Amino acid sequence: MTVPTKSFPSEELIKKPSLFGAVPPNMRNYDNLCASFCWETARNQIDGLSGGALNIAHEAVDRHVLSGRGQHCALRCLAKSGACRDISYTDLKRATDRFAHVLADLGAKPGDTVFSLLGRVPELYITALGALKAGAVFCPLFSAFGPEPVQSRMTIGKAKILITTTNYYQRKVAPWRTKLQSLQHVLIIDAHGAPPEGTLDLDVLLASAPAVFEIVHTQPEDPALLHFTSGTTGKPKGALHVHEAVVAHHMTARYALDLHPDDIYWCTADPGWVTGTSYGIVAPLTNGVTMIVDEAEFDPGRWYEILERERVTVWYTAPTAIRMLMKAGPELAQQRDLSRLRFMASVGEPLNPEAILWSKHAFGEPFHDNWWQTETGGIMIANYAVMDIKPGSMGKPLPGITAAIVERANGEGVKIVNTPMMVGELALRAGWPSMFRGYLGEETRYKACFADGWYLSGDLAMCDADGYFWFVGRADDVIKSAGHLIGPFEVESTLLKHSAVAEAAVIGIPDERAGEVVKAFVALKPEYEASEELRRDILGHARKHLGPAVAPRTVAFADDLPKTRSGKIMRRLLKAHELGLPEGDTSTLEKMTS
Ligand code: ATP
Ligand code: MG
Repeated sequence: MTVPTKSFPSEELIKKPSLFGAVPPNMRNYDNLCASFCWETARNQIDGLSGGALNIAHEAVDRHVLSGRGQHCALRCLAKSGACRDISYTDLKRATDRFAHVLADLGAKPGDTVFSLLGRVPELYITALGALKAGAVFCPLFSAFGPEPVQSRMTIGKAKILITTTNYYQRKVAPWRTKLQSLQHVLIIDAHGAPPEGTLDLDVLLASAPAVFEIVHTQPEDPALLHFTSGTTGKPKGALHVHEAVVAHHMTARYALDLHPDDIYWCTADPGWVTGTSYGIVAPLTNGVTMIVDEAEFDPGRWYEILERERVTVWYTAPTAIRMLMKAGPELAQQRDLSRLRFMASVGEPLNPEAILWSKHAFGEPFHDNWWQTETGGIMIANYAVMDIKPGSMGKPLPGITAAIVERANGEGVKIVNTPMMVGELALRAGWPSMFRGYLGEETRYKACFADGWYLSGDLAMCDADGYFWFVGRADDVIKSAGHLIGPFEVESTLLKHSAVAEAAVIGIPDERAGEVVKAFVALKPEYEASEELRRDILGHARKHLGPAVAPRTVAFADDLPKTRSGKIMRRLLKAHELGLPEGDTSTLEKMTS
């Protein structure tokens, strides 16, 4: 593959202070911690249960009550209506115990699958943790899914029990329910004494359930969580995770998000996506923080208000949201007192350098990019509170994680690429605790993810001489043009540097001479209007910075770019439309706003 000669300009480095502020970071020195870290010792940071058992819900909830922190607020739930409900660790223990009783009384056996189809309301969190207590496998579905995605996921997961609302049940489940033999019970959280036919009123069941439940002593390798991938590159896959994953959730949140027990932490991801469960339920609670849960959808004004009013200290969000905040302007942030904000992180898509520099300007703090996947269960590569940031880089592997750039050999096995800044597939040494243990119903596909003891991520990346990793693109999205390998991320980041561009996506389109040429789709900032002159200006800007071989051949204006519901740009759809090909699976496509 081509070796980019790019070297990082040192003037762009974001230096971290060598002295610690009022809250010293959990990681004081990256290299020292990596050298001393091992997963066996990390396991001592959590409790475990007698007889070698381990249950995520014990670590997230009961442990804090037993250690005397029960009165600490675990969840601060902000309803769309403006109402606010605080739930302490003790409250959460009682509620999840009761819920686990309900499941057990309904005949849920360890290993059965419990699904939720709920917005970000307290019941979602109680369902997740109560199901784990009962030894069930929990699978959260994103509430905006229509009937088909709900049915296909519940079928793959052999759902036994579903927790939902009257409205979602009637619209999204009732029409096909009889087709799913495994589904025995549907529990309704807002039945008000009149559950739809064939369902049960959860409040009635809870009222008669005892307040204390003896947590199921699951083993570390017992399945705990089922998560479907975002469907960015194709049909979503169901990745299965085990209770042992909690060791990685806990430790990665300590180091990559720098969570301290007194933090007010806000993860904006919905639990329907893995980020919203690993770092929006499990990891914050095992670290004993107060977690903000906002039921409402993205809205810049509301978000800044929450950050200020709730005195959020650690904030974990996604590049799409950051780009939308950039679109809304830095003044909105600067009008607020956000002085409590200590650490900000981002995941899900490449974080353009422009966004990091902007956050430094708008908040006085940079966003810290980190990389992981549904399959990895937890953060694998990150920028840390103590480590200088090279904007555009995903950072370095977590302590306990070995990452490498590899090439798949033609036959079996892989070859490690040791040359700095050479493009190859990002691979992780298999065996960390939150590694997925299977794709449900797709054993062959699961096996194909591993070679020579490495997990192969399907993403292309590079590693520089200092050990920083750089995202290039998903293997499916990379463009091969006249002998060059072009990563969409680099081109999109350059387009974003143009003052008129709010969002960009590039794809390769077939070309007789070059094989493929780059086509860009750009969404403009609200104050700009599409014109031929602007198109030429954007093309000129791209050529100047990227050179004619890499710059887009054409630029098209788009009101909006197709994205998954978790905010990832779906380049495959742009390509399908461009080439007149079938769209493929669109179950996770966000409805276009214009
Ligand atoms: P599918 O596997 O169904 O196509 P998906 O890969 O988008 O969907 P997720 O597991 O939610 O589903 O997303 C993981 C992917 O998101 C990574 O493989 C990577 O391509 C992208 N990603 C996540 N974080 C980053 C990051 N910091 N920089 C670049 N890409 C990222
Ligand atoms: Mg994927």
